[in-house]
Amino acid sequence: MQKQTKIEPFTRITPSAPIRADQHGGRAKCLQRLVRLDLPVPATVALPFDTVHQIAAGHMPDMNAILAAFDEVPLFSVRPSSADPDWGGPGAILNVGMTDARHAAISETRGAEAADALYLRFIQSYAVHVARLDADMFDLPDQPDSAAVERALRIYADETEEPFPQDPAVQLAEVLRSMARAWEGTTARLLRQAKGAPADAGLGLVVQAMALGVGPDESGSGVIQFVDGRTGLAQITGRYLSQSQGRDAVTRATGAIYLTRDPRGPSLEDLSPDIFALLRDHAALCRSRLNEEMQIEFTIDDNRLHVLDAVRVTRSNRAAVRIAVTLARDGVISKQDAVLRIEPRALTELLHPQIAPGARRDVIARGIPASPGAATGAIVFSSTAAQASAARDEPCILVRRETAPEDIRGMHAAKGVVTERGGMTSHAAVIARGLGLPCVVGTTGVALSQRSKTLTTADGREFTEGDVITVDCATGEVLSGAAEMQEAVLDDAFTDLLAWADAERDIGIRANADTAAEARKARTFLAEGIGLCRTEHMFFEDDRLTVMREMIFASTSEDRQAALDQLLPMQRLDFVELFQIMQGMPVCIRLFDPPLHEFLPSDRQEMRELAESLDKPIADVTRRVEQLSEFNPMLGMRGVRLGITVPEIYDMQARAIFEATVLASQLGKPVVPEIMIPLVSAKREVEMVKTRVDAVAAAVRNEKGREFDYRLGVMVETPRACLRADEIAVHSAFLSFGTNDLTQMTYGLSRDDAGRFMSDYVNLGVYREDPFRILDTDGVGELLSIGAERGRRTHPGITLSICGEHGGNSESIAFCRDAGFDYVSCSPYRVPVARLASAHLALTQPKQTDSA
Ligand code: PEP
Ligand code: MG
Repeated sequence: MQKQTKIEPFTRITPSAPIRADQHGGRAKCLQRLVRLDLPVPATVALPFDTVHQIAAGHMPDMNAILAAFDEVPLFSVRPSSADPDWGGPGAILNVGMTDARHAAISETRGAEAADALYLRFIQSYAVHVARLDADMFDLPDQPDSAAVERALRIYADETEEPFPQDPAVQLAEVLRSMARAWEGTTARLLRQAKGAPADAGLGLVVQAMALGVGPDESGSGVIQFVDGRTGLAQITGRYLSQSQGRDAVTRATGAIYLTRDPRGPSLEDLSPDIFALLRDHAALCRSRLNEEMQIEFTIDDNRLHVLDAVRVTRSNRAAVRIAVTLARDGVISKQDAVLRIEPRALTELLHPQIAPGARRDVIARGIPASPGAATGAIVFSSTAAQASAARDEPCILVRRETAPEDIRGMHAAKGVVTERGGMTSHAAVIARGLGLPCVVGTTGVALSQRSKTLTTADGREFTEGDVITVDCATGEVLSGAAEMQEAVLDDAFTDLLAWADAERDIGIRANADTAAEARKARTFLAEGIGLCRTEHMFFEDDRLTVMREMIFASTSEDRQAALDQLLPMQRLDFVELFQIMQGMPVCIRLFDPPLHEFLPSDRQEMRELAESLDKPIADVTRRVEQLSEFNPMLGMRGVRLGITVPEIYDMQARAIFEATVLASQLGKPVVPEIMIPLVSAKREVEMVKTRVDAVAAAVRNEKGREFDYRLGVMVETPRACLRADEIAVHSAFLSFGTNDLTQMTYGLSRDDAGRFMSDYVNLGVYREDPFRILDTDGVGELLSIGAERGRRTHPGITLSICGEHGGNSESIAFCRDAGFDYVSCSPYRVPVARLASAHLALTQPKQTDSA
């Protein structure tokens, strides 16, 4: 435990001074590190959070005592020092202490021009930030002179009805007070809270002797860093500007020169090779000893180099990955540190194309960003149009009220998807995540007319088929026109980082993958198997849909069997392909789940076409469609209920799986398939399905003369299955929690309609988060815990996992890990995020070993 030392109202920063980041802020602590490295840092005093808080409340520390901490009374800069630099803070104020007397003295030593520049700069910032006068009145002239100084002093006196303060102690007190008050203001508080700062986050201040940066001998200021903040690649970057202070070299439009020798223009290396070499050495020392890529702020004063400050290089997410990996490769930090330095969610930006920072944005609609990335294309309003567009090689964005299983081919053909309805687990969202397609659902701000094929924005603009739009899932926005993009990067840094993460994590990560393409993606992202293969998606291919419909319309069991016999070889091939791609890794195949109604046409034209292809009167088709329609299809005849009442479908699937197992095991690594029964709510359902699946396995073993193993398990996605998990587990090799349906049923909240009011609910604080996005650990989580505990009670060692969409986010992984689950399964594109998130958990919250 840290020793509780009394915090002084201010402390001169020396190598041994008691400076603490949690009391004096990050900048003060970093300056102390620079001092300890023996870098030429001007004398600095740190004021802790408590002092600054007292100042805001009107209790000033002893100014003369602060000034006495400096060897002589020079000019000062005052800068903010919060616990986290990202929380912002008031801007720096330079040249505090500048008075008429000092102006005269500096004119003598450095010349009138330098003295005028220093004084004017201070009057301007004091007038604007301390006296709160109008900035327009204090514009800095291009060529400061004594007339400009006199004018500024006069305007100050006229506006405040007081002369400009001439006592450095008074100036310093007023600067400290204005900065302390600015930090405590409501706007500043809300801004930093939005960046994750606690409501009571404190501000420290650092008062530093100025290295002037203006004068007759070489003087100026600049910044240097060793990496490019956009790419993270090694490159000396920065600028130097003669006769300047602070960050002028990067903020002024003209005059700054390069640091290293450069064919484009003059450089500091040419101008002053010795100082440049020293600067480079200092910066290198900072990198290796502060274990970070730092941007060094420096000043050259009368040919002498001073290091004023060092801040973490601001970086894009992709640069952050490269920087962390390079620092670890160079031995500056450990691999574990590199892993912990990357926020798991930040990886999403690397996996998908994104809109380039600073690109022009004309927002026409907003919705829920349901699947990451960004894409541009021409609007299409139907799956057919999307496929036609893809056939012409023209990128398109599929815009639908909502998508249904028959839209899958259109989604495959599109570059992005926008739906008017839906939430995080609606059909479009789930499929898009699997395909890695950017998708915005539940949009507001546009009216969609599927009939007239138009999209009308709130300000009356009308978009029709062929108009180009951009979907941005970083923000959930739909933009008019094509926005400038930056590409996905899966480079060596990304691969190394995830390999290091894998070495740490202690929970398995599988992928939800329904097709060969998704399984390949899962392998690319190093998933350890498939945790959920939704087989019904395989039946929407054109050739299969027809046979599927024949099966649905079969009036005798022979006819039904004939249709299933046609589907069998297709399914077998699907599974052989999946097994081959996964090369012996576990593949969990979920038996058929959706209501049959989803395979039937919904409009008259399609019904007529179906009647023709089945050679039946259209009345038969409409009757069957009506028979199968349900008020609440998601709570109706689907999942295992279909498996029990139309058992031939599961028989066919089990046979396809076992025959594929025999085939794939002959061709490659031995396969032990996992078969999962969906929507179970009673143990008898499991017993009945198990009896038939076992019988099919026996038959296939017999016919093929081959032995194979398989594991039969249950998808726990009804509250009753959680509550009765003890009796269900007896017959199951594994329980996999389907948290999409489980959330839907626990809340009694339709996953397809929740998007309509979810943002209101979250904004009003009714729900903390959208429970379809972030696992509700209180309610749904309690059911998971009950299910896991009861399942283990009757079946110790049973495999436990989740395969709902929650599987990919950090909070749910933490929950599953605490509950001792074996793995989580999520869409392939979320696998890298899940790998990194689990490594963070393993590193920051190590599990207690039994012997401990
Ligand atoms: C679930 O319900 O959590 C699940 C994974 O299955 P689906 O989304 O296919 O209903
Ligand atoms: Mg489900």
